[in-house]
Amino acid sequence: ELKYDYLIVGSGLFGSVFAHEANKRGKKCLVIEKREHLGGNVHCENIEGINVHKYGAHIFHTNDKQIWDYVNSFVEFNRFTNSPLANYKGKLYNLPFNMNTFYQMWGVKTPEEAKKKIEEQIKELDIDNPKNLEEQALSLVGRDIYEALIKEYTEKQWGRPATELPAFIIKRLPVRFTFDNNYFKDKYQGIPIGGYNKLIDKLLAGIECKVGVDFFKERGAWERLAKKVVFTGKIDEYYGFEHGRLEYRSLRFESSVLNSDNFQGNAVINYTDKETPYTRIIEHKHFEFGKQDKTVITKEYPQEWNSLNEPYYPINDDKNSKTFTAYRKRAESESNVIFGGRLAEYRYYDMHQVIGSALVAVKKEFDG
Ligand code: FAD
Repeated sequence: ELKYDYLIVGSGLFGSVFAHEANKRGKKCLVIEKREHLGGNVHCENIEGINVHKYGAHIFHTNDKQIWDYVNSFVEFNRFTNSPLANYKGKLYNLPFNMNTFYQMWGVKTPEEAKKKIEEQIKELDIDNPKNLEEQALSLVGRDIYEALIKEYTEKQWGRPATELPAFIIKRLPVRFTFDNNYFKDKYQGIPIGGYNKLIDKLLAGIECKVGVDFFKERGAWERLAKKVVFTGKIDEYYGFEHGRLEYRSLRFESSVLNSDNFQGNAVINYTDKETPYTRIIEHKHFEFGKQDKTVITKEYPQEWNSLNEPYYPINDDKNSKTFTAYRKRAESESNVIFGGRLAEYRYYDMHQVIGSALVAVKKEFDG
């Protein structure tokens, strides 16, 4: 007799939402998590009373009212609005590219003047078939914005010259001719009041969870416990890397506690010049309008991925897409394993998307 209906490998948003919904339907679930805590990449650590986003800044945003209502049924969200700044060689610019940015860059005061400036710069370059990221970006926003706010930042992120990066990385570069620094266009955004751990705790309430347990250490034993497995780890690892390894970009985070109540006056400041080795500084208290005496900041350094650091961003180029397709074909033929989430599907998912995808998997599993 199998002890559980579902063994859920990984306690990120995909695993937690699936476990919650299965449990609600009377199914017995066991969640195993290889890290020492639950929540996957949305996990926060409390330092000096501040929720520190351990795996990078997480801002919830969505246009989907159902998803927004879903997360709000577990935890209330605050009114945080992401409005990052860029620091280029010591000068500050508002993001995303909008009238404030254009005023800071050129002194232009009206949308008409700003449009004219950008159009002139695009026309001057006369690129009609962008061959790489540099040409793509130049053809969309012109030279000044590209050079100060895109080029060196992107090169730090990817560790390669923009002329060697594929054009597809940048599909669109929205420029906004209003004085609006709200980064996301979505109708709903915010941060859970009390932090993301609260959301995860609510999702997993009443469900058996084991942390510090790697599925692959005693795979057979875990598999024998449950009728079905929900796998949210790396799909190539699930198949013993038989078709080759999927590649990622990684990040290194360097956090410090400062004896200051406000270090930079904003949650996110990007450093877009090549002289600064990190790509941004996060000041975590500002996500929740914190009034603590101290502050915690994190510098984010892009890194090559290896088997020792965290796989963060999938590299969806031709080579990796082909490898992934081979794994996906095998996954499709499994009848007792559900693959889901950013690592099993080898794609970048925002939080609202991964929740949506888990709810689709739930629907398929329980409503046919
Ligand atoms: P994960 O959260 O990675 O969960 C998978 C879990 O499985 C992990 O806890 C892992 O330890 C565990 N696991 C893996 N293998 C095993 C194993 N063998 N045994 C046991 N456990 C295992 N989204 C937004 O909407 N807004 C943002 O601002 C935002 N910022 C981001 C910033 C960064 C730097 C990154 C990397 C992502 C960001 N995201 C953001 C995306 C967000 O992190 C993801 O959508 C979400 O975390 C995906 O959830 P998941 O369950 O698929 O994966």
